[in-house]
Amino acid sequence: MCGIIGYVGSGDAVPLVLEGLKRLEYRGYDSAGFALVEDGQLVVEKSAGRLSEFMASLGDSLPSGRAAIAHTRWATHGAPTDNNAHPHTDCTGRIAVIHNGIIENVAVLRATLAKHGHSFRSDTDTEVLAHLIEHLYEDSLQGAVAAALKQVEGAYGLAVICTYEPHTIVAAKQGSPLLLGVGDGENFVASDAAAVLQHTRSVVYLDDGEMAVLTKDGYQIPDLDTTRVAKAVSPVDWDLATIERGGYPHFMLKEIMEQPVSICNTLRGHLLPEDGNARLSGINLSDAELLEFDRVVLIACGTSWHAALIGEYMLEELARVPVEVEYASEFRYRNPIIDDRTLVVGISQSGETADTLAAVREAKKKGAWTLGIVNVVGSSIAREVDGGTYIHAGPEIGVASTKAFTCQVTALALLTLRLGRQRALSVLQGREIVEALNALPEQVKAVLAKANEIERIAEQYVRAPNALYLGRGYNFPVALEGALKLKEISYIHAEGYPAAEMKHGPIALIDGMMPVVFVAPQDGVYPKIVSNLEEVKARGGRVFAVVTDGDDQIARLADHVFTIPKTLDSLTPLLSVLPLQLFAYYIAVRRGCNVDQPRNLAKAVTVE
Ligand code: GLU
Repeated sequence: MCGIIGYVGSGDAVPLVLEGLKRLEYRGYDSAGFALVEDGQLVVEKSAGRLSEFMASLGDSLPSGRAAIAHTRWATHGAPTDNNAHPHTDCTGRIAVIHNGIIENVAVLRATLAKHGHSFRSDTDTEVLAHLIEHLYEDSLQGAVAAALKQVEGAYGLAVICTYEPHTIVAAKQGSPLLLGVGDGENFVASDAAAVLQHTRSVVYLDDGEMAVLTKDGYQIPDLDTTRVAKAVSPVDWDLATIERGGYPHFMLKEIMEQPVSICNTLRGHLLPEDGNARLSGINLSDAELLEFDRVVLIACGTSWHAALIGEYMLEELARVPVEVEYASEFRYRNPIIDDRTLVVGISQSGETADTLAAVREAKKKGAWTLGIVNVVGSSIAREVDGGTYIHAGPEIGVASTKAFTCQVTALALLTLRLGRQRALSVLQGREIVEALNALPEQVKAVLAKANEIERIAEQYVRAPNALYLGRGYNFPVALEGALKLKEISYIHAEGYPAAEMKHGPIALIDGMMPVVFVAPQDGVYPKIVSNLEEVKARGGRVFAVVTDGDDQIARLADHVFTIPKTLDSLTPLLSVLPLQLFAYYIAVRRGCNVDQPRNLAKAVTVE
């Protein structure tokens, strides 16, 4: 999920790859390292922490060689420690691998390799690749990497060097970005163009299933069956800042657009289609233990709290287990009733949210089993809970959370499956949910492909001083989240409400100046929300509605509509929130706001 840079040429490789790593720092990372072959020996240097400290620790005499690979890590498997930093090597210390992504079948591969005598020095999934390549090496690195990757399930962008072929780098891509930088007498491989831009603007974007074999004089792009693929060299005409944002004007938009991939990463390796269930080994509870809980408490702040509310609706409806959602800051100071039959789940993108951390500690003290739903591996919450699951959204740089939210909801859907299948959820219902989850990334993609529709709608609301967001059922928390996004980045006052509650107060605000955003897909409460919408229209309110494809009833009533595909009621938030993220984004941009760093807000709220 983080950075890769490899160099082969006639220059001094290590300073070149270190400079490339610096260009990748903006992505966020927790460790860094590099490998090269010097005098026939593999040299590996790596450490957890900042790149500047790592570079200072190397001193002046850097190892010298003509080919090197380097990596910044965003941990997914194993805490951010020196040992878990990349590159990872095989048993013989002759092969070094750097990798972005997640190997799904790591447990099976590790067990098989262990039987063949391989021993592992890290907790990462990546190290398994180094041993697998060693195991399959006959006479070519390319052949060994291809053979290894045929056994691998998951996502990877990777680069490999070895002492047997010191002037070659082998790279491969599946699901994680990777490109080649084509130079004169030198070639690069990188996870994004920012890392190579100083040296070349000619790049070849690799596609999934492709490998690359790079030497100083050229490159080949075979697939895993060694058929050569002809690829175009593209010029990069973006400036560095644009490249860093993947071509998008802001990180927030980039992260919104990443959601098809980030949701895939949250699901990766967890779904059991046959059983209609989810594998969540990280919760560290047996089936019997899991059955002993008589209620679930979800603790979070901000956007994560909205995800938790959706979790409550899912868990109660589908798993039939009582759930409470608590603001962490309130929970921690009110002596809550918690015991060893309470399953407490702390939800936090950063894993460092001070109130959530303190609330989790409080719950633990009272005897609860604590779980974390966290993005940052090795973060404080992740370390202190009894178990949990990572959402694997990748680094989120925009302060207003977007992809972490949808990944949190996805993780809660997994928890619902796991708890539900033991309680109220039939195998058929479970399979239906698994199928719907599998279909989501494509549906998300289809919604995001219509971003320009939202941009046009947003234009109409740029000058609004207030906005009301209404939703019911699963989409009530989405209304809250939509309002929060607008507040956070555009500084327009916005409130989210359960649509029927409007009559108990906010309806007094409705006039032609008050935009009302309805989150109204065709779910179980659709007829109810149509009535609420009529009530708003009857009072002259201006309505923007998010509805299901083909809905012409609301289309006739609302001033603007945006349609989303049909999915299960419980999963609609994962689609309906997307237009609201984009709506807030485009309004904020039009108002000239600093979208990625809104005033007064911090990405990780480490104070209470
Ligand atoms: N899954 C790998 C790890 O945890 C790669 C992480 C990354 O993409 O940086 O080490």
